[in-house]
Amino acid sequence: MLKVLKFGGTSVGTLERIQNVANIIKKIKDEGHDVIAVVSAMSGETNKLLEYAANFSNNPEANEIDMLLSSGERVTSALLSIALNEQGYKATSMSGREAGIVTDNAHTKARIESIDTTNMKNALNDGKVIIVAGFQGVTEDSKRVSTLGRGGSDLTAVAIAGAIEADVCEIYTDVDGIYTTDPRIEPRAKKLDKISYDEMLELASLGAKVLQNRSVEMAKKLNVNLVSRSSFTPEVEGTLITKEENIMEKPVVSGIALDRNQVRVGMYGVIDRPGIASSIFTALADANINVDMIVQTRGLDGTTDLDFTIPRTDWEDCKKVMEKFKTETKNIDYNDTICKVSIVGVGMKSHTGVASKAFSALANENINIRIISTSEIKISMVVEEKYAELAVRALHDAYNLDK
Ligand code: ADP
Ligand code: ASP
Ligand code: MG
Repeated sequence: MLKVLKFGGTSVGTLERIQNVANIIKKIKDEGHDVIAVVSAMSGETNKLLEYAANFSNNPEANEIDMLLSSGERVTSALLSIALNEQGYKATSMSGREAGIVTDNAHTKARIESIDTTNMKNALNDGKVIIVAGFQGVTEDSKRVSTLGRGGSDLTAVAIAGAIEADVCEIYTDVDGIYTTDPRIEPRAKKLDKISYDEMLELASLGAKVLQNRSVEMAKKLNVNLVSRSSFTPEVEGTLITKEENIMEKPVVSGIALDRNQVRVGMYGVIDRPGIASSIFTALADANINVDMIVQTRGLDGTTDLDFTIPRTDWEDCKKVMEKFKTETKNIDYNDTICKVSIVGVGMKSHTGVASKAFSALANENINIRIISTSEIKISMVVEEKYAELAVRALHDAYNLDK
């Protein structure tokens, strides 16, 4: 079998842990499999590099940030390769460019456009283990190094697995699979054997950082067999992320996600003319800002109020876009002491009363809901950040997810 393995920041967080990863790879290689391993930077490294840059500028050039951040994963890929070679296994590290990963020009959140697998195939034919520096590629136009957004090594692994038609893509992290909610918040959370791509995509998009959302989207599109498991207990089977039809038992609610990195934007007294919403949200989309949970309410004298949420990382960019609408708005404010809790489950499609149970669960804890949004398989609620963990536990309880 050809296996693509991905090791996250904690899994390569110390030199001992890099050796532990080398041992996992050696065992899989000894079982007769071909291995491409994708690695993250050592935990904390990416944040440290960002702090270094912030020391010099509030607004550093995105392509310089990419040059800076891409170094983190290169360090781990080289160290792991050196360790394997020393222990008698033929290995080679590759940067994103060497692995053939070409992206668009959106520095710091680049999208993969294509992967030329020639280099990787040649190395596999030579019997080598390939260690790819995750989270990076090269831009098609300017041939600069680019990065794929936070958590992007997951995407590197899935995209490679899809392009090279690997048999499986295993994402090794510090928990042994996908749980009904973050086990660090609710210790009674239960591990799932399987979860559908769509549910996992919602959970990831709504804050469960155990998998990066774009990696799940790509796994679904390319039909990649995706597994989430632990590098600390590699003998334990993880969770399979798969097609909905491969899952027999469909619980109404599969999991609960929490996103603390949201900002609520309020635009009050917006001139109510046809096309105003379109121009605001087009401007935000053009700036690559991911808007969620839009609420429009009628204001006074021919004006309207708009509330929506954005990721905290897009806050500065959003402020720039809002400047353009200043003359058409009485007041614009931002609130970052909020969070978003969401319940996700494909079974919701065919059940009633799911939402009311969530609202009662929060009401019983005296938690006020500020914004609600629903889709076929999810319900999201914005609440005050100080209630984040309480809200997650109350919802986990309400749907008996610990049973
Ligand atoms: P890595 O550095 O390996 O990429 P991450 O920190 O990005 O790992 O993701 C793993 C973390 O995701 C876990 O430590 C856990 O706290 C968190 N997490 C959030 N939601 C879930 C969930 N539903 N199931 C498992 N882990 C979750
Ligand atoms: N090192 C990058 C990050 O911290 C990418 C990754 O770990 O997947 O976001
Ligand atoms: Mg991650």
